[in-house]
Amino acid sequence: MIQTDPDRFVQGILDGNRRMLAKTITLIESSLKAHQEKASTVMGKILPHTGNSIRLGITGVPGVGKSTFIENLGVYLADKGHKVAVLAVDPTSRRSGGSILGDKTRMEKLSAHENAFIRPSPAGETLGGVAAKTREIMLACEAAGFDVILVETVGVGQSETSVASMVDFFLVLMIAGAGDELQGIKKGVLELADAIAINKADGDNLKAVEKAKGDLDLAMHLITPESPTWTTPVLTCSSVIEGGTQSVWETILDHNEKFKTSGEFLQRRKTQTLQWMWALVEEGLKQRFKNNEKINEKIPIVSQQVQNEKMSPAAAAEILLSYL
Ligand code: GDP
Repeated sequence: MIQTDPDRFVQGILDGNRRMLAKTITLIESSLKAHQEKASTVMGKILPHTGNSIRLGITGVPGVGKSTFIENLGVYLADKGHKVAVLAVDPTSRRSGGSILGDKTRMEKLSAHENAFIRPSPAGETLGGVAAKTREIMLACEAAGFDVILVETVGVGQSETSVASMVDFFLVLMIAGAGDELQGIKKGVLELADAIAINKADGDNLKAVEKAKGDLDLAMHLITPESPTWTTPVLTCSSVIEGGTQSVWETILDHNEKFKTSGEFLQRRKTQTLQWMWALVEEGLKQRFKNNEKINEKIPIVSQQVQNEKMSPAAAAEILLSYL
C-alpha cells in the first residue's frame, strides 16, 4: 500500500470505488508514519470534493436502540437513492478488544444494501485521536459520493461533545424508563442536542413515552437555544413501526433548510473546522510531550521534587514544558 501512488487513491475515491475508499480508511487509521503521510497527501487532494452531505450524529445509552434506528433510517434513505455511510466514535473499543458500534452484524439489512457503507469505530488511545480519524473518514466518504453520513456514539465521557462538533445535526435518542426518566441524562448532552427523540414509541411503551415527552418538554424549556432559528424539539419514534423514523428525518431536513437559509449551516461548519484544527494542535502537543526523551528523563526527577514539596507544581510544569 505504501508503494501505491497517492493519486490512485484520490482517483479511486472520486470514482466512488469502495475498495479504494476502504484502503484509504486503512491508511487514515494506521499509526505508521509513512501511512499517515500518505493519508495526509490524499486528504489534501480530496478536500475540494468534500462537504456535500448531511452529517448526522446519533447518541444514546446502550440499549436505547441506536443500531436498530440507524438500520431503519439508513435503509429508508438508501432505498430513496441516498448513499449512506455509517461511522462510529467509540473510544472504549480498544479496551474492550473490538468495536461495539458500527458493527455490521447489528445492521444486517443496511450492510447488504448497495447504497450503504458501514465502518466500525477506529481504535485509538485517546478520544481526540479516534475523533480526528473519524472526521477524516467522514471526508473521504463524502468525496466518494456519500451524501448522508451517520456517526454513532455512546454516551461515554466526552464522546458526545466530539461527535456533536463534527456533525450538522446531533440527535439524542432516549427511552422512557421506569419513573425518573431525566435522572440519568447529563444537562450538557441536552444542550448539545438539535433534537431529542424518545425511541421505542410503540406497543405497551406508548403511555410511558408520552409521559417522558412531557417531562422532557419541561426540561428543555430551561435550556436557552443557541440558535435564533431553532428550538430543540422533543420527538418520538420507533424502529419497529413502518415509517417510524421518517418524522425524525423530516425534522433533520427542516433544520437543514432553515440553517442553510439563515447562514448558520455554513457558519457551524466553519466553526467546527477551526475547532478541529485546535483539537489537532492539542493532540499533537500531547503526543510531542509524551514522546520527548528529555521530558521523559526529567519527569521522575521533578515529580519527586514536587511530591517532597521541594518544587511547586507550577515551576515543575514550566520546566517540563520548556523542553517542547
Ligand atoms: P443500541 O445498543 O442503542 O444500539 O440498541 P439496539 O439497536 O441494539 O436495540 C436494543 C434492543 O431494543 C434490541 O432488542 C432491539 O430489538 C430493541 N429495539 C430497538 N428499537 C426498538 C423500537 O423502536 N421499539 C422496540 N419496541 N424495541 C426496539
